[in-house]
Amino acid sequence: SQTSSSQWLGHPRGLFILFLTELWERFSFYGMRAILVLYLTAPMTGLNPGLGWSNAEALTFYGWYGFSVYMASLPGGYLADKWLGQKKTVMIGAILLTVGHGILAIQAMWAFYLGIFFIVSGVGLLKPNISTMVGGLYGLHDTRRDKGFTIFYIGINIGAAIAPLLVGWVAYRYGWHYGFGLAGVGMALGFLGYLQGQKYLQSVGNFLGTSEDASDREKLHKPLTPVEKDRVLVLVLSFLIVIIFWGAYEQAGGLMNLYAEQKTDRHLLGMEIPASWFQSLPGIFVISLGTIVAAWWSRRAKKGKESSSLAKLAIGTMITGSGFFFMTAASLQYAADGKAAMYWLVLAYLFHVIGELSSSPVSLSFITKLAPAKYASMMMGLYWAATGMGEKLAGTLGAWSQTWGEFETFTGIAVFCVLFGGLILLLLKPLKRLTHGADDDYE
Ligand code: GLN
Repeated sequence: SQTSSSQWLGHPRGLFILFLTELWERFSFYGMRAILVLYLTAPMTGLNPGLGWSNAEALTFYGWYGFSVYMASLPGGYLADKWLGQKKTVMIGAILLTVGHGILAIQAMWAFYLGIFFIVSGVGLLKPNISTMVGGLYGLHDTRRDKGFTIFYIGINIGAAIAPLLVGWVAYRYGWHYGFGLAGVGMALGFLGYLQGQKYLQSVGNFLGTSEDASDREKLHKPLTPVEKDRVLVLVLSFLIVIIFWGAYEQAGGLMNLYAEQKTDRHLLGMEIPASWFQSLPGIFVISLGTIVAAWWSRRAKKGKESSSLAKLAIGTMITGSGFFFMTAASLQYAADGKAAMYWLVLAYLFHVIGELSSSPVSLSFITKLAPAKYASMMMGLYWAATGMGEKLAGTLGAWSQTWGEFETFTGIAVFCVLFGGLILLLLKPLKRLTHGADDDYE
């Protein structure tokens, strides 16, 4: 039809519908997350009462929340593949998310848990399928697809950048539940935009979902070839990197958020900056540094320097890990002065994002390249599962830090990530041999 094939800025118009929908979905997600642990740990009395949980309890909850949200992508993807199709599944997800964030606006314990349940289900239905739909906007050999995903990633981070500022401010100024409600208003806008834009999504096929016909399923019973077995080994390792990477990175909404609230001097120009505002830094850095980091990697590749996906994953993990050394410095300053300076958090997030921009964009495509074609959908699911485990790891480490000490935890994460990434770099040659050409350098 005329509408579904129409273009804007050289891309299918549907891309901008998905861009806006995901922008608002991430607005609600990161807006809520920016105040989640702050709300959980706020005292039960006072002007803006919270739930009065301990830090460890809040961070444990944060870990389970992140785990559930990304794990829900597995049934969410399955439902779309087998029954509903991606478009309808995203629609239902958007409705559940709007309702879920709306329910959080009610100040009651039942509302809190019910709202969280709706949000987890909603993200599970929406997030994996909207990403797959982006791929489905382009033909199989359309070279614009990567660019399309980059544009989509910017949408994600615009939502992630503005939400903590707005939701965080409203929660700080008027109360937590107004903040939660505002996240819901954002999602409602996303839902309405998605509804309006349906005509531009008519041509979206099921990008990965329909590839598995009956003859493929026979193939499933064939034993793996030696080459495939080697690749599976590297695959397992790359899932491990994904878990470790997000386990470090996702301290952001958890331990680092509480660190901003409780141990950081947030006074600037005579006013106090709400802790939640620091949560917008990763999004801001992704938007402003995305092209620079990508250009740096491609310049390296052109010079013939090591720039395989595996190397990027390893180096990305090392850079993100190094960011925690700034938190080590913050902890030392806190021990000495009773307050840590704000710039430590800023520097830590800066490094986290440079690491993210090195590793995260390549990880999914690398994993799909290593997997035997028939497992492509399954790998997508496993990638979300690995992300979920990373979130759980982040929450668990945060909770343990309350016993171990924050200095020890931040430094431990930094040292571990640097050593782990370094080990992969040392083993790069044999590991690349095991990929049998699936990880050839590219620009
Ligand atoms: N920031 C990205 C997003 O929200 C990735 C988050 C993650 O995978 N943990 O989509």
